[in-house]
Amino acid sequence: MNIELRRFFEDDGTLDIDYQFTSEDELFASPVTVKGRIKSANSIVALNADVECSVSVQCAKCAKDIVKKLSVPMEHLLVSQLNDEDNDDFILVENMVLNLDELVLEDVYLSLPARFLCKDACKGLCPYCGTDLNEGTCNCKKPVDPRLAALQQLLDSNE
Ligand SMILES: [Zn+2]
Ligand SMILES: [Zn+2]
Repeated sequence: MNIELRRFFEDDGTLDIDYQFTSEDELFASPVTVKGRIKSANSIVALNADVECSVSVQCAKCAKDIVKKLSVPMEHLLVSQLNDEDNDDFILVENMVLNLDELVLEDVYLSLPARFLCKDACKGLCPYCGTDLNEGTCNCKKPVDPRLAALQQLLDSNE
């Protein structure tokens, strides 16, 4: 959605935002919902919104395909010109038109956690046979660390 911001830069005002869009990125398992408000005062336009979406990802431990709901808060100050190019506090809106979808996606990508788990207590896969330890057990024994074995021997010989 493109939002014409000229009137907000020229005059104080508010605009409620409540819409959905579909991203072509296959990461998204559902349309992206955006609810919030644009509010301007003294030529500064503030954007506050909550973004809700679902993403198709894999569990980092057991590699199961999962769909996770995300909720991402957005908070930006928009300006029509930047005096200081390196100022990250403001977002420059070219030609006074805001491409909101683009900004929303940027914020969603930045908020993605480094890894997803199917559940907090996911037991993952056995590193030796690949059994999904959430669904069953296997007979693999953990190889004993040779340093620990040496320590154990030392402790035993002291008794
Ligand atoms: Zn898992
Ligand atoms: Zn195993």
